[in-house]
Amino acid sequence: MKNKQVYFLLLFVFVLSFIGQTLAQTMPKDADPKLWQQALAIHKKAIIVDGHNDIPSPMYDEDFDLGTSSVGKFHKDGDPFHTDLSRFKQSGITGEFFSIYVSRTYAENGGSGAARRALDLIDATYREVEKYPNQLVMCRTANEIRKAKKQNKICALMGIEGGHAIEDSLFALRDFYRLGIRYMTLTHNNTNNWADAHRDEPRNNGLSDFGKEVVREMNRIGMLVDISHVSVKTMSDVLDVSTAPIIASHSNARGVADHTRNVPDDILKRIAKNGGVVMINFYPSFLDERTNNEENERSKRLKPQLDALKEKYKDNKEAYNQAERQLFAENPIYVPSYTRIVDHIDHIKKVAGIDYIGIGSDYDGVPFLPQGMDGMEDLVLVTYEMLRRGYSETDIRKVLGENFMRAFEQAEKVAKINSRKISGEGSLKKIK
Ligand SMILES: [Zn+2]
Repeated sequence: MKNKQVYFLLLFVFVLSFIGQTLAQTMPKDADPKLWQQALAIHKKAIIVDGHNDIPSPMYDEDFDLGTSSVGKFHKDGDPFHTDLSRFKQSGITGEFFSIYVSRTYAENGGSGAARRALDLIDATYREVEKYPNQLVMCRTANEIRKAKKQNKICALMGIEGGHAIEDSLFALRDFYRLGIRYMTLTHNNTNNWADAHRDEPRNNGLSDFGKEVVREMNRIGMLVDISHVSVKTMSDVLDVSTAPIIASHSNARGVADHTRNVPDDILKRIAKNGGVVMINFYPSFLDERTNNEENERSKRLKPQLDALKEKYKDNKEAYNQAERQLFAENPIYVPSYTRIVDHIDHIKKVAGIDYIGIGSDYDGVPFLPQGMDGMEDLVLVTYEMLRRGYSETDIRKVLGENFMRAFEQAEKVAKINSRKISGEGSLKKIK
């Protein structure tokens, strides 16, 4: 009798822990439990690289500590948090690109302070890695990502978002490489002195001569050229010039959602020839035209009310954020399910091939995620949906990270073939 009680108690504990484990990653209600377990198992084994995470800005601006829970919390600007160490663990992510995002305001200042802003965010990233040496490690090479996976650690990688961060200096570009920057988005939403952005006045007919020099120098030192945020002409110029694979660290397919942030089919085909990778952004307005239209329409419609709230709470940003959230909740828009992410994967697979797709979530850089996703912990939903649509484990692992690894390794090889010393033979061109 006593033995039986112990047996039932153990069984009860086992079942409880099992439920706890699966609930932690919010298995969809109607999900096939077998496929779900398969998805979780893939996340344990695979090298997963996420192309874009904006958490460094709140790490610097708000002293956000990755070791504290971010669940249910909001940035100072009102957007929700998606990232912390425990959410990282649940996501299975091996390598995360911490975005060294430099806002256009620094470029509009004549470029002044842009490099300083980047340096501050780089330091904030190093400090978090130093604070959590058992969980995090700074990575600079593809090899280091594979090594970190074996040690069960998360790689912090860094990419600059907004080419104006180099303040028109290839000298600064090389310094950023030395600090560990492994990609640079040539522009943010603003056209800069040498590259045109997707939704700004074109001033360089794509890439200027100096812009082409920036791309060549990035190839030479082994920094990936990132075409997220640039105009289609800039994308095309980059593909003409680059001898190494390029990436779109957080962009989608224009063939699925017609947005200027997304990559058109002809460019997708050229990226396949180039050996690059387009890493899918989870922001619903880039995933689905209907969301984008309804979001824009709502902003216009609610502008008088939002202005009034701004005035009312001009001394209390937090109260304003709360009121804004409330107003948006009362005026909901269409938000697609996480399965929409896989529609973009399907499309790029069809147009360019399975070898040129990656993941570039844009966590902590977007005001909301697709239905079913709250943060990093829900990344496994993408894998689940790919399994459900019949993708093989090999193909899923390509999308989750191996495609990026191939592009990164190839960029490292191109730099090695150039094999001149970074300091000794870099280009001396500058704008001023
Ligand atoms: Zn971005």
